[in-house]
Amino acid sequence: MAQKAQTNKAPVGYDDTPMIPGSEWRVHDGTRPQPKVVTPGTFSSQDKPGQPPSDAIVLFDGKDLSKWIGRNGEPQWQVENGYMEVNRTGNIETKEHFGDCQLHIEWAAPAEVKGDSQGRGNSGVFLMGKYEIQVLDGYDNLTYADGLTAAIYGQYPPLVNACRKPGEWQTYDIFFVAPHFKEEKLVSPAYVTVVHNGILVHHHQEIMGPTGHRSVASYNVPHGPKGPLMLQDHGDPVRYRNIWIRHLKGYDQE
Ligand code: MG
Repeated sequence: MAQKAQTNKAPVGYDDTPMIPGSEWRVHDGTRPQPKVVTPGTFSSQDKPGQPPSDAIVLFDGKDLSKWIGRNGEPQWQVENGYMEVNRTGNIETKEHFGDCQLHIEWAAPAEVKGDSQGRGNSGVFLMGKYEIQVLDGYDNLTYADGLTAAIYGQYPPLVNACRKPGEWQTYDIFFVAPHFKEEKLVSPAYVTVVHNGILVHHHQEIMGPTGHRSVASYNVPHGPKGPLMLQDHGDPVRYRNIWIRHLKGYDQE
């Protein structure tokens, strides 16, 4: 019986198949390393943030700002009821630095609508402290397209406006490839994919350079392979919750 079970077993790979060009593995190679097992998290609802996947670095779980630095050291943003809120004490950034990454972040614009255009629920997610994905209350709020919610600020509008109403929790899932410099020269630019509330709004979009205001971005100042995640204090009481990040294997950066 045992022998019969053996013969019915499907093969785990082959050793007589062609080599995959540019790799050291055969097609369906049985000796190719297995991907690491990660336990998936859960999705968020308006009432409750979801659970991060098992290998995520949790940057904010609603309790404290221990992973963050403020303008003068300790971050001063208000933490209550499972969220942090911008309060005109300056930008905050993570102690740990990141390059290529997957970032999940949730935010809510103020329920009480005040101001218009860029003066309404403005904040921002700055990858490496330099590349802004705009946070703005863009629900029924006219502003310039490359400054709308989820825009690569000053460069590319989102593919669609996927905003929820002010006061509601919204999600960004951001997949970022860091730019790469060699001997002060740009070798490859940054790329970003952004999913806003489950909707694709940037698809592997090349970033022109660090975010500016009323200027054309360019990579004129080389920088290292990693930088902090920064959240912008633009003066509006935007809230954040459930922030987690995963390092991604990226370019071989020295
Ligand atoms: Mg902003």
